Parts: sequence; C-alpha cells; structure tokens
Amino acid sequence: MIYDLVVIGGGPAGNEIVAFFAKKGLKTLIFEQKAFGGTCLNVGCIPSKGYLHRAKLISELSSNKIAFAKDSSYFFLEDLQKFTQRTINRMSLAIEKRLMDRNVEIKKEKVAFLSKDYLISSSKEKIFFKKLILATGTFPRIPEQLLGIESLPNVFTNESIFNLQKMPESMTIVGGGVIGVEMAYFFASFGVPVTIIEGMSTILSFFDNDLILEIKKILKRKKVNIIENEKIIQANQQLEIKLNTGEIVKSQSILIATGRLANIPDNDLNLDKISNGYLKVNECFQTSQDNIYAIGDVNGISLLAHSAADQSKQLCHYLLENRKIEHDRVVPSIVYTSPSLASVGIREKDTNEEYVVKKLSYSWLGRAHLEKETEGIMKIIFKDDIIVGAHIVGAYAEEIIAMMGLAVQEKMSKDILRRLIIAHPTYSELFMELF
Ligand SMILES: Cc1cc2nc3c(=O)[nH]c(=O)nc-3n(C[C@H](O)[C@H](O)[C@H](O)COP(=O)(O)OP(=O)(O)OC[C@H]3O[C@@H](n4cnc5c(N)ncnc54)[C@H](O)[C@@H]3O)c2cc1C
Repeated sequence: MIYDLVVIGGGPAGNEIVAFFAKKGLKTLIFEQKAFGGTCLNVGCIPSKGYLHRAKLISELSSNKIAFAKDSSYFFLEDLQKFTQRTINRMSLAIEKRLMDRNVEIKKEKVAFLSKDYLISSSKEKIFFKKLILATGTFPRIPEQLLGIESLPNVFTNESIFNLQKMPESMTIVGGGVIGVEMAYFFASFGVPVTIIEGMSTILSFFDNDLILEIKKILKRKKVNIIENEKIIQANQQLEIKLNTGEIVKSQSILIATGRLANIPDNDLNLDKISNGYLKVNECFQTSQDNIYAIGDVNGISLLAHSAADQSKQLCHYLLENRKIEHDRVVPSIVYTSPSLASVGIREKDTNEEYVVKKLSYSWLGRAHLEKETEGIMKIIFKDDIIVGAHIVGAYAEEIIAMMGLAVQEKMSKDILRRLIIAHPTYSELFMELF
C-alpha cells in the first residue's frame, strides 16, 4: 500500500496538515516518536507559559507585600510541575484523539531512515508514500564548551528543566535569547539567584534597544546577574564556567539555552541545507527532493509555533487547492515576562529618515496607575503614514500586539486606524494616542 501523505512529527507543523488531508479522504499516516503536541506542548511554549504565570502571581504578591501562605503547595515547584504535566498529558491525548477521529493512521514510533519514496520505522517496517512532510522540529544545541557536562544531574535543557520538582539553590542560564530570559524571570521570581551568560553584545538582541533596556531593568530588579558580550571557554564537572575574561561563574545548576538544531532523520537523499543545518526549502516549502516538504522549525525560517502552524495551513491549501503561499506574513515575537515584550514588523533599529517613530509611556494610562502597571512603552513606526511596525513592553503586550499585527499585515494608513474605537479603559487605548 502507498500512502498519499506521510507526516513525520506531531507538533504544531505536523498535526494540522495531516488532519486536513485525512478530512479530504486521502490516505494519511503520521509518525510521532514522543508525544503529540511536539516541543511546543510538551517542553516548550505551554509549560514555560504556565510556569511564567505562577512567577507573575508570586511577583505581584511579593512586590505589593500581600501576605500569602508561603507554605501553600501552590507556590512549590513540585505542585507546578505535576499540574503542568497533567495538563499537558490531557492536551496531548486530545490532539491524538482528534487525529484518530479524522481517520489519520498513527504510528507512535521513530522514523529511523528515509529514502525517496519510502521510509523505515524503528520497528523495521517499510512504508511507501507519494508525498512526505518533514515536521520534525528541533532539539537543543549544546555548545562544544559544555559538551561533557550536559548529562550531569544538575545540568538542564528545555527537554529536562520542566521535570525539576525542587527549586535549585542557584542557576546559571547559558544563552540570553527568549527561552533564557523567560526562564531567568521564572527562577528569579521564586528567589533563586540567577546569572545569564550571553555571548552577544546584549540579551534579546533581536528586539529594539529601548525594549531591551526595560526588560533588563525588570530582570535587574529581580537581582538577575546579566553577563553580556563574553564567551564561555570551558565548564567543568563542578559546574564552574570559565569565561574569556578569566571570570568563573559557579552555580548549583545550569540551564543550556543556546539555540536549537534541526531534527532530520537519517536518509540517503542528500537534502540541501542552509548554512546552520536547517533544511533548505523553496517558496512552496519543498526540499531538494521534489515529493518531500519541510515545514515548521526544521526549515529554520522562524522558530515559532504560530509560524509552524501557519506554514502547515498554507502548505495544505497549496497542495490541495494550488493556493499561492504567502511569505509576507507578519509574525509577532513575544517574551512572556511580566511585563511582557511584543514586537511585529519593522524595528526602529532598521529605520532611516523616511520613517516616523512614535512612542508613549504606559504612565499615560489612568488604569495603569491604579493597577501599578505604569512601567512600559508602546511604539509605532510609520512610513508614508502607513503603519509598518509596532513594539511594546508593558502589561498585556502579548495580547495587544495581535491587533497591531493585523494593522501592519494589512498596511493600514493613519486614516483607517483613526476609525477604530477601542474600549475604555483598556491598555490598547494607548495605540490610539500614537497617530
Ligand atoms: C522552552 C521553549 C519555549 C518556547 N516558547 C514558545 C512560545 O512561547 N511561542 C512560540 O511561538 N514558540 C515557542 N517555542 C518554539 C516552539 O516550541 C516551536 O517553534 C514549535 O514547537 C515548532 O513546531 P514544529 O511542529 O515545527 O516542531 P516540534 O514542535 O518540535 O515537533 C516536532 C515533532 O517531531 C517529532 N519527531 C522528530 N523526529 C522524528 C522522527 N524521526 N520520527 C518520529 N517523530 C519525530 C518530535 O518528537 C516532535 O514531537 C518555544 C520553544 C522552547 C524550547
């Protein structure tokens, strides 16, 4: 038997497309070696945001000196870990059930080898396909200086950190990207001394400088020690990390958050790659093998769950209806600290004199004063009176950005934006004051 479509990977990229193909009555099969929901549900977006929610609660209570039962299990990592795991398991099973309801065939095992029109599973079954989609995601990158310590009991990646049931005595986070900063915020909120080591000139270098400054203020208030522009020379079994300056950073635990590498099954296809090892795809997400496509993190276009899901939907419509794939979609980037940071479109650091940048502080909002949320800024970037970028650090940034993303995606002019009525009193109102 030959399958119309085989998908490898049950994360946000793989689930959507296989369900859609099956709904159309096509013969489909999906492989998942771990749990449905992929990195996002099991060891990424969902557990981290659950953890950050509790960090926000405890930060609010502590900073307002509100008495709370410190011995309540609600504030113990063990309770949080178990609650999160139970929730994830339920959601993962729901995804699996949805696929079964759509008549997708499921194999919960690894694809061990891949060839032009067949694959071999870890149970040695040979399966033929017409089309194959690689939605295999990524795994944590371990820098060579940390090789050898990565399997020690107190050294973690995102794959193991959410199993921790007791707060570490201290934590060094190697990597000041989104994952590193979010986890620093989490541990520091519970009073764990945290150091971030970032090799680039700043943490979160993707974002505009004014937003980075705000986040740094928040982290510093939580006593996070931020070391930037310094390289790790080596690390030893005692978890001492030596930097290029000679400084030694020592802590009881280490979290490695230094980026991710593409997960590509063994194969005889010689698939083209881009420079950092991600699969090279053309404008239709097709790899250098014409019946094999790659979507989501594995193609390295954008390492975000919402991009993976969008690529999945777009490829589905392209393959089934020949609908054109759009690559000009605006993708929001968010850091879920409290306050949070959110960004879409052109950044101020990429502008020149043709652009107009408008900024306003959260302290302009009456409601923000009453809710003690005055810390933050909203910024919009216009070109020829058309909105081309929006950036926020402040309360609810992760929600407000959706509206601004639509405005940027649809290239709305000031005249159109002025017709919008935003409810009062909301944080989104700040947007109206910027044009
Ligand atoms: C700590 C952390 C926090 C994150 N937070 C966010 C966030 O807040 N927002 C956001 O948008 N993104 C976030 N991300 C990124 C997000 O998780 C990914 O962008 C998203 O999961 C990518 O989806 P995907 O389907 O491409 O790959 P994945 O979700 O990685 O799924 C790939 C699946 O393929 C399976 N697989 C791989 N190889 C094989 C094989 N040979 N055989 C069978 N199965 C295989 C894997 O087991 C996995 O389940 C976060 C990531 C991490 C690590």
